[in-house]
Amino acid sequence: MPGQERGRAGVSNAPADAAKRPRRVAACSCGQLTATVDGEPVRISVCHCLACQRRSGSVFAAQARFARADVTFSGEGREFVRVGDEGGGATFTFCPACGVTVHYTSIGQPQWVAIPVGVFADPAFPAPGVSVYEERMHGWVRMPDAIEHIF
Ligand SMILES: [Zn+2]
Ligand SMILES: [Zn+2]
Repeated sequence: MPGQERGRAGVSNAPADAAKRPRRVAACSCGQLTATVDGEPVRISVCHCLACQRRSGSVFAAQARFARADVTFSGEGREFVRVGDEGGGATFTFCPACGVTVHYTSIGQPQWVAIPVGVFADPAFPAPGVSVYEERMHGWVRMPDAIEHIF
């Protein structure tokens, strides 16, 4: 019996592998601007910096990074370029109708697309592994114990 179970699992390997690359859709509030991603993000981070607080409207921002090749864009977006304190920056694409930022790209890193975790509206989305700029973290916020802290 256990052997048979393994056998069946072996037969279903192809669909199981496909299931390991879940498809998720990030969408703005009105739904016209979307980013569809295949597979798990390569990195999920939280940033407490003031620019990310202002951009997200929340007390910290959570974002997932995907390879651009795994992302399909749909809808009309407008762009805002934010230049960071240390010269870096990012181009944010937001819905002109409802204002939600659905994805962004860091300047000089066109191979990656970052998507704010909240726009997936999925409480089962994987947890962040990195926490950045904790010196700006609101006093009541608690990060998971296992998270990696970067200044
Ligand atoms: Zn919208
Ligand atoms: Zn930030």
